[in-house]
Formats: sequence, structure tokens, C-alpha cells
Amino acid sequence: LGIDSVEPGTLLVAVGPGASGKSTFAAETGIVTVVCLDSLRERIGGDAGDQAVTPAAVVEQNILLEKYLSEGTTLYLDSTNVEARVRAELVEQAHRHGRPAIALRFLPHLDTCRARNRTRPTNRRVPDDVLAWQHSLALAATPKALLSEGFTAAHDIVTPL
Ligand code: ATP
Ligand code: MG
Repeated sequence: LGIDSVEPGTLLVAVGPGASGKSTFAAETGIVTVVCLDSLRERIGGDAGDQAVTPAAVVEQNILLEKYLSEGTTLYLDSTNVEARVRAELVEQAHRHGRPAIALRFLPHLDTCRARNRTRPTNRRVPDDVLAWQHSLALAATPKALLSEGFTAAHDIVTPL
């Protein structure tokens, strides 16, 4: 996927379980504008893994999405987005601004996600049952399914390992 060839103003939506490489991808591709739910949780509650501040972080996430979508800045939404209901709102939000939404799915084997998850600091670790649940939802979000949800394009991001 050539990030440079993406139409300006596009909403790039990561879809993937915890520890699947969503944030690493952003760092490696050098996408300039990233909205990251973990970072927002960190800023609001001082702890990126604190689920109690998720609702406040989502409010903040939406404010930023509105800002970038209205000004036509291409942005990468770095959060799990494994639930179809969550993605439907994102697609709707992008389309309200006349912007395309592209899904980028991250789906290493569950065991790989588990192994990476275990190496993290405790507060950033996703509970194993949650990780498995996120993984199964991401598995169901095939590029075909994502296109039928209204995404302009859907790509599986295959990273080494
Ligand atoms: P979360 O949803 O919990 O924020 P994430 O999807 O952003 O997770 P990352 O933090 O990007 O996941 O990656 C998880 C771990 O896997 C990190 O320790 C990272 O260094 C490692 N990792 C990511 N991509 C690769 C890769 N291609 N090969 C090896 N290790 C990787
Ligand atoms: Mg991350």
C-alpha cells in the first residue's frame, strides 16, 4: 500500500487485535497524522491501558476525527476497530465529510499476538480472553466484508513474523 498515493483526506482505519502491529505500522510507514486511542487514554488518565477512561478517550478521538476529516488531512486511526458497529460509525463519519475510508487489517496468528502481548508492561497487556475475542472478530472482518461495510478499499497488512 503506497501511503503517498492515498487520496488526501482519506480516513485510514486500522482493524486488528491488541499487539497485532497497528502502532508499529504507523511508526514504520511514517504516516504523519495518527489518532491513537491508547495515547488519548494516556493523556487523559495517565495510563494507556486504563479502560475506565475509554469513553472519554473515544469522545476525544471523535473530536480529532472531525477536525482532520473536515480539513481534509489524511489520518490513520490507530485503535482496534474490530467491532462492525464501531466501524460503521467511522465509515459514516468519513462519508459525511465526503472522505473515503480505507480499512487496514492486521491479523498475525493469535499465538503471535499472545506472545507479543506477554512481553508488554502489565498495564498495556490485553487480558487473554479479550485478545482472543478481538482476534476472532478481526478474522471475520475479511476484506470482502469490510468492502460491504462501505470501505472504499480494504487491505490485509502482512508484516514479517
Ligand atoms: P495495541 O492494539 O495493543 O496498541 P498494536 O496493534 O498497536 O497493539 P504494536 O504495539 O504495534 O501492536 O505491536 C505489538 C508488539 O509486536 C510490539 O512489541 C512490536 O514491537 C511487535 N511487532 C509489531 N510488528 C512486528 C513485526 N512485524 N515483527 C515483529 N514484531 C512486531
Ligand atoms: Mg498500539
